[in-house]
Amino acid sequence: MLTPNLTVNAEGHLCIGGADTVVLAKTHGTPLYVMDENMIRENCRGFARVISEEYGGRGLICFASKALSCKELYRIVDSEGLGADVVSGGELYTALKAGMPAEKIVMHGNSKSNAELQMAVTHGVGRIVCDNLPELDRLNRIAEASGKTVNIMLRIKPGIDAHTHDFVKTGQIDSKFGFALETGEAMAAVKAASLYPNLNLVGLHCHIGSQILDTAPFAEAARVMLGLMNKIRTEIGVTLPELNLGGGPGIRYTEADDPMPFSEIVRAILGAVKETCAELSFPEPFVLFEPGRSIVGGAGLTLYTVMAKKTIPDIRTYVLVDGGMCDNPRYALYQSRYEAMIANKAAEPRSERVTIGGKCCESGDLIGEDMPLQPAAEDDILAVLATGAYNYSMASNYNRNPRAELVMVRDDAARTVVKRETYEDIVRNDI
Ligand SMILES: *Cc1c(COP(=O)(O)O)cnc(C)c1O
Repeated sequence: MLTPNLTVNAEGHLCIGGADTVVLAKTHGTPLYVMDENMIRENCRGFARVISEEYGGRGLICFASKALSCKELYRIVDSEGLGADVVSGGELYTALKAGMPAEKIVMHGNSKSNAELQMAVTHGVGRIVCDNLPELDRLNRIAEASGKTVNIMLRIKPGIDAHTHDFVKTGQIDSKFGFALETGEAMAAVKAASLYPNLNLVGLHCHIGSQILDTAPFAEAARVMLGLMNKIRTEIGVTLPELNLGGGPGIRYTEADDPMPFSEIVRAILGAVKETCAELSFPEPFVLFEPGRSIVGGAGLTLYTVMAKKTIPDIRTYVLVDGGMCDNPRYALYQSRYEAMIANKAAEPRSERVTIGGKCCESGDLIGEDMPLQPAAEDDILAVLATGAYNYSMASNYNRNPRAELVMVRDDAARTVVKRETYEDIVRNDI
């Protein structure tokens, strides 16, 4: 099985965290997102353990909520001691509504509106990561008008090629995110930020990409960032106390994937931080990490009902399901690969190769192509694995499909944490 929390019970049904997915599909309907709470909690603890063992606990892990934002997720990660990284007013609102303390929130965004900045200032968000010079100016004005000084970090492009898909590679110069290091833009931004009376520059941030399977690009990014912090100390006499190294550890989407466990990645990064600080005689900074996918990705799956099977002789067989790009747009966006299985035939071999097609009116609305699958029939339950990250959070109402329900499984019991949208929800804002 792809992840250790997936098992097959005596009836040959796929189980996640001990809960029978076929029963879940019958009880809650499909499409259905299912998350394993114990696995999410174990992942949170795994990150905290490495920071404690390798770095004396001098760090904060902020769950990257763009991977999966709903109130219950913030409650779970908060109760495990994590903070949250938010990138919009909507994510910030959800986190605050869930009771996440504002000081544990890091606010991102390359194009934050004044209203979003005002919201972050009003609620006392712990760190605002600034992306560009106009934002520094706007934020200073907003903070001044509110009579506050706010902690900021600057998003830096360290120029690391993380060997990943172009759409999620953000460390290089040609990226809409942050200040480039190589061009001197980053140093100029540090100087500019230091002059604003209502901004308190506490450190630097970088995020070099996503679904990164190896430690090397992360360790290199840490070295490059500390090199810049050292240069800042030398050139302008400011010793920044914090370094935020973003997210990005990859997960196992298919059986062919062999990612380095995130614990090894964090260990390697912290090793590089300690070594570089020693070389430069630079005080070891407080570190922040922003894992998203590696906390929730493997902890979730999506259940669909098979509506039809369509074989085009000598070409391909389509298995058509009652969801699609409206609940998982990742294949349409970046040809992301997934494993799937027929949940009610999980003990049988996956002897066919099929294309899984969604219900949306787009030929590109596929969950995947050339996927091994048990022989599918109408009314079977199809499980797509490792969909815990960037599925529910990227869902849309395309074709006016109501967004699916999300259930959380814990110790065999399941509870709804996001209700299924109704048709009435869909027309709520129509005049
Ligand atoms: C997307 C993103 C993350 C999370 O990335 P994962 O690959 O899900 O760990 C963290 N920080 C920033 C700034 C991001 O843009």
